[in-house]
Amino acid sequence: MLFTDLPLNPNILKGIAELGFEKPTPVQEATIGQLIEEDRDLIGLAQTGTGKTAAFGLPMIEKIDVKSKNVQGLVIAPTRELCVQISNDFKAFSKYIPKLNIATIYGGASMDKQAKEIRSGAQIIVATPGRLMDMMRRKMVKINQVNYTVLDEADEMLNMGFKEDIDGILEHTPQDKCTWLFSATMPKTVAKIANSYMENPLEITIGHKNIGAENIHHIYYNVNERERYHAVKRILDFHPNIYGLIFCRTRRTTQDIADKLLKDGYNAAPLHGDLSQMQRDKAMQKFREKTLQILVATDVAARGIDVDNISHVINYHLPDDIESYTHRSGRTARAGKKGESIAIVSNKDIHRIKQIEKKIKIQFDALELPSGKEICEQQILRYADKIKRVKINENELAKLLPSIQNDLSSFSKEDLIKRIISIEFNQLLDYYEKSKGVGSAKNKGQKGWAKDNNHERFFINLGYNKGLNKGGLLRLICSNTNLPSESVGELDLYNDFSFFEMEKSLAEKIIGDLQDKQYDGKDFVVEIASKDGKRSKGNSNRKPTSKKRNQRDNKRVKRKR
Ligand code: AMP
Repeated sequence: MLFTDLPLNPNILKGIAELGFEKPTPVQEATIGQLIEEDRDLIGLAQTGTGKTAAFGLPMIEKIDVKSKNVQGLVIAPTRELCVQISNDFKAFSKYIPKLNIATIYGGASMDKQAKEIRSGAQIIVATPGRLMDMMRRKMVKINQVNYTVLDEADEMLNMGFKEDIDGILEHTPQDKCTWLFSATMPKTVAKIANSYMENPLEITIGHKNIGAENIHHIYYNVNERERYHAVKRILDFHPNIYGLIFCRTRRTTQDIADKLLKDGYNAAPLHGDLSQMQRDKAMQKFREKTLQILVATDVAARGIDVDNISHVINYHLPDDIESYTHRSGRTARAGKKGESIAIVSNKDIHRIKQIEKKIKIQFDALELPSGKEICEQQILRYADKIKRVKINENELAKLLPSIQNDLSSFSKEDLIKRIISIEFNQLLDYYEKSKGVGSAKNKGQKGWAKDNNHERFFINLGYNKGLNKGGLLRLICSNTNLPSESVGELDLYNDFSFFEMEKSLAEKIIGDLQDKQYDGKDFVVEIASKDGKRSKGNSNRKPTSKKRNQRDNKRVKRKR
């Protein structure tokens, strides 16, 4: 089917042809003709990236009577960014329709200016629920003549607590209007809205046919909890041309990760609710213009992000609710493009991968993080590409060129290429050789020395939470055992416990020497770790009575004081 097969006004066809639209997407095919030919309600289960803006926009624009200056079409969307996006799309669709006016209404901008837009005869209003309700209360906008209402990203609006505003708005619209509801998911709350305000709706589901979802490659990396950040860096290094979004669960982590990335030389910025509107707008603008490569965002702040060509979505932590994963991953692979949605998981949250697979019927690939060598190869390819594209400053170079040419004249072209590349390559290889590998959590308990039979892995019930760090653990072991620091292998610290590796033949001595000792005034336990990396049941350095004895001794000391 082509757009020209649909009952659309030639002026609309001209507008969308200019946008390069030729064939309707599945959601457009299912809605446009039906909604133009018959005034009826609609529920569309479709994500962003499926072309749903045109799916409701084209029929709405087709139905507007431009001779009237009443508000006839109302689109409600969760965020300012999404409203602006929808409004811009509508303006592009109706570019060749004279006298069609569209007003965009959202918080954080001048209400008077928006009221003026409405007064000048807007037939369509695209609004966030909060600001619209506010303007309705102030009698700045009348929606009692509305014939078509769209609730876009209904699940998001309800998640954001707009239920009351939506009810308030819909109650002020005529009973016989058409309501077109779009949602990526259909939780009970959305179904309830549909039941209350819609009559015999046409239901369409663009599930697996969704042009976005089909092209998303879902990947997860299972890493140790404390190596999440290193894993992100590896992923970014492996994709030097990434144009991506990193999702974090909290504002604090979002800011923290963005700060760390910036410090480590990545082109990244944060986007979260603690930033001012101006800071957020600036970050979004830079991201849209692609001068910013990586946006680190919370789910809420990223709701309005409607940017094409996002190559990767990285889940720094998986979202708390599975539906948010759909929203996050839907930011990539839009408009027929391919994209990757990457989840970084530790042994603690890996079970959620299965839950997501089951619930949203997708398949994750479990991959190993790219190795240093693989990263170097990617970086070198990018460097070669940069050499191809670099702008040459002829004037400045002209002065230096003769002596440089003279200096390098003995090298062949191949030799020169090798040398130029090696400048970058050697540095990178050096960096990755020096940097400690990011361990896969799958190998926990079986890595390093402990893999062979001569070494043992020990468990200690002290970790970061007790103020321990690697140096502290090393000192604790060496001062009590009188063994040199070189005799200690890999140290693996966690919040509540840690592991260390030492020679198996010394196991008895180590456990004995560390028995009944204290760290920072507190008892601790050392045991031989089991092969799966957990503490084992036997071989503890704790005598059954030692703790009680210590408590008793402590009490005595207290009493003496
Ligand atoms: P949406 O889901 O409405 O946000 O659309 C996602 C992207 O697909 C936007 O960049 C649209 O401009 C583009 N798009 C929508 N419909 C079509 C179409 N029929 N042909 C080509 N691109 C489209």
